Amino acid sequence: MSKVVGIDLGTTNSLIATLDEGQPWVIPDEEGEMLLPSYVGLSGTGELLVGQAALRQYAAAPERTVKSIKRQMGTDYSVTLGERDYRPQEISAIVLRSLKQRAEEALEEEITQAVITVPAYFTDAQRQATKEAGEIAGFEVLQILNEPTAAALVFDDRSEDTENVLVYDLGGGTFDVSIVEMTGDVTEVLASHGNNRLGGDDFDQQLQRYLASKFAQANDMELPGDAVTQARLLRAAEQAKIALSENAFAQVREPFLASKGETALHLETEIAREDFEHLIKPLLTGTLEAIDRALSDAEMDADDIDRVILVGGSTRIPLIQSLVENHLTDTPVNSFNPDLCVGLGAALQAGVLAGESVDSILVDVIPHSLGIAAVMETAFGLTPDMFSTIIPRNSVIPTSRSQVYHTSYDQQEAVEIEVYQGENMVARENVPLGSFKIEELPPKAAGELQIEVHFDFDLNGILTVTATEKGKGQQNSFVVNDAETGRLSSYDLDQSREAIASLFDMPALPMLDDDETR
Ligand code: AMP
Repeated sequence: MSKVVGIDLGTTNSLIATLDEGQPWVIPDEEGEMLLPSYVGLSGTGELLVGQAALRQYAAAPERTVKSIKRQMGTDYSVTLGERDYRPQEISAIVLRSLKQRAEEALEEEITQAVITVPAYFTDAQRQATKEAGEIAGFEVLQILNEPTAAALVFDDRSEDTENVLVYDLGGGTFDVSIVEMTGDVTEVLASHGNNRLGGDDFDQQLQRYLASKFAQANDMELPGDAVTQARLLRAAEQAKIALSENAFAQVREPFLASKGETALHLETEIAREDFEHLIKPLLTGTLEAIDRALSDAEMDADDIDRVILVGGSTRIPLIQSLVENHLTDTPVNSFNPDLCVGLGAALQAGVLAGESVDSILVDVIPHSLGIAAVMETAFGLTPDMFSTIIPRNSVIPTSRSQVYHTSYDQQEAVEIEVYQGENMVARENVPLGSFKIEELPPKAAGELQIEVHFDFDLNGILTVTATEKGKGQQNSFVVNDAETGRLSSYDLDQSREAIASLFDMPALPMLDDDETR
């Protein structure tokens, strides 16, 4: 039987996936890239460019490059490239053909049957245009599948019970939230809401403006508005944004960005995750309102939702995860390769339609929350020895998260980082995993010294904790091997109990910064 494929034909990126012994996987290009930018262009010499190559020429030659064609599907828009006008389905067909070629080269066989995904809110005309794009590319389109349904299939536990899944999808340029009801083999989108003009691109632009103002402050002059400078700034902004999903701070360095007389000027700054969060938070409140609207359209309450699935590259931003978690408390929030899972689900569905035996994906999660002891603001005022969660329970592994803390009293010379696992608000009611110190801190007033605590939990269940003092950059780390027992194996529990007992005499715990509680 020849292979079938699933295709996520996205506004910003597309991908193709297939099944191997019932398990879906994404077919990468020769360089190992999973995502194909949904860009099509003609080079100066008239050569067809698709994906990265077309994306690269976009800033220099936008008149010869087409992007975001998905927004025009189902309309009578046309775009001129070289000598010819192209309909949206023809441009999409070029993207699809390039993916088909990629799959055929990797699998060494001809691929003809595909499932292609579309947003749940797509009209009939938009779906029809997508089907035509597939046919122009040389596929038999087995099904046009809703993106939220595809994502939900990845997490389907194949039970006969009805499960209500809320899919929150925030990509590069679009946002939507859908409620999907799954019973056995039947899945149905009950409601869908969204904003076609919200996504990671907006966060990049916010950060671009912020970086431009930092540059202006540092150099006493505005950055030139020319396309090349602005494109460099935008790229730096996106890189910083992505770095901030893992780290509490990101360095931005763009050398020779402008000049003042004979002097070359560089952009060199650091941005804190907290500052980035302040920039994007106002854009995110509307996404929470969309959740409520979708619930009310489906005539459901938050309690009726069995699980939330995060989809789209932008949901890797920790603030988005915590906003959704806090909005739908008590509902488990799952995230697994958010930029790949629509394509993986499409491959699963293609397998089902072609009669292959299909497995759901094994998603491994952390069974207990991981965090440290910290002084936190509670109803009783500042309280020591509270449990500050860094990686919440049910996070899909591998995962990395960090959190910023500050010193709790003047001239504090050391902080002790005590790591725990559990769900109790009081740190010592949880299981201690170990502790270490950062010493010889520079003398500063309470709250002035920042400590970034980074947790890295790998596929083998090994937790690496790193604490970095922001001033001198002093760093200390330790490794907890959680693989066998679910807790530190080599750690001497007595010693840790002693350390905790002594905390009451010596409140040298770090304090949680502001309201960054998760
Ligand atoms: P998608 O449309 O799902 O491919 O998502 C693309 C968007 O996700 C772009 O705006 C990317 O900058 C953004 N993105 C990808 N990875 C990350 C990350 N680790 N943190 C924040 N945004 C990301």
